[in-house]
Amino acid sequence: MHIHRISLQNTEFEGNNNAYLLGDTDPVLIDPGVATDATREQLAAGLADHDLEFRDVDRIFLTHWHADHAGLAGELQEISGAEVYAHEGDASLVAQGAAGWEAQVARHDPLYDAWGMPAAKRTELRTFFEEHRRVRGRPVDVTPVADGDAFVADGVAGTVAHLPGHTAGLAGLDFEVAEGRILFGGDVLLPKYTPNIGGADVRVEAPLATYLDTLRTLASRGYGRVYPGHRDPISAPAARAAEIVEHHRDRAERVLGVVREKQPVDAWTVSAELFGELEGIHVLHGPGEASAHLTHLARHAVLEATESGYVTAEDAEAKLANSLPSRTRP
Ligand SMILES: [Zn+2]
Ligand SMILES: [Zn+2]
Repeated sequence: MHIHRISLQNTEFEGNNNAYLLGDTDPVLIDPGVATDATREQLAAGLADHDLEFRDVDRIFLTHWHADHAGLAGELQEISGAEVYAHEGDASLVAQGAAGWEAQVARHDPLYDAWGMPAAKRTELRTFFEEHRRVRGRPVDVTPVADGDAFVADGVAGTVAHLPGHTAGLAGLDFEVAEGRILFGGDVLLPKYTPNIGGADVRVEAPLATYLDTLRTLASRGYGRVYPGHRDPISAPAARAAEIVEHHRDRAERVLGVVREKQPVDAWTVSAELFGELEGIHVLHGPGEASAHLTHLARHAVLEATESGYVTAEDAEAKLANSLPSRTRP
């Protein structure tokens, strides 16, 4: 399989994004990037390196709905008439109709209440979303796909792999090639930092448990390489998945420590202890991640959710050990 990575600048969120081009003729484009002039130019230049133009792209696969991955899809579709595939769980947000985006925004306010987010920070977040509206790009006519669906790229038969957690409909493309089993996984597994859960898509129920399940799935599939949405390919995906599980175990311990010290606490307080003062999208991601941990620990009776906030339950330490996968690395 001919795999070309096109690195795209992303100053709107963090880090550069990777678009991937699978095949030299009739290529599949994965995650065209954020809808800014700079990124559009870089994508055009990246395609031109392979003698391609926007109008030559007939198939686009989106790993998830986030603007830094999906932003330019609508515009490309207008130019080329490309079929744009996304997992059915993220399709409504990729499409950007009222059913998707407005419903998502409406989910935020009750959560800000539950998390204890201060009014000034809510305003900051609303302003951030308004200012970033343009980078989401244009509406998309989405072809929804589901886990296990066949997907052929560059003549190689592959499948769609649903890997939820970071978003509800995050999906990768899974192929068996000469170098082994590979996955184009978007933000499911990243080499440097851990993908946000809880704030990155507030629709995901039990985000930590969902993501831990996904990491278990990833580790069990024997991928030789994962091509992520940011930074360089991951050549030991199972080990990286184990590292991220470890990270969440450490984080859960820290969350329990904060609750012990400050109880009763809300997600905002825990977020401030873990991450300090936050700006931009992190105003959502920080308490979202804290909340993902708090609700997970409450489900496992490590914590109790009371009217005034989370408090520790009896035998919290012992229960914490059972609430996450064991420390043994594969
Ligand atoms: Zn993302
Ligand atoms: Zn991303």
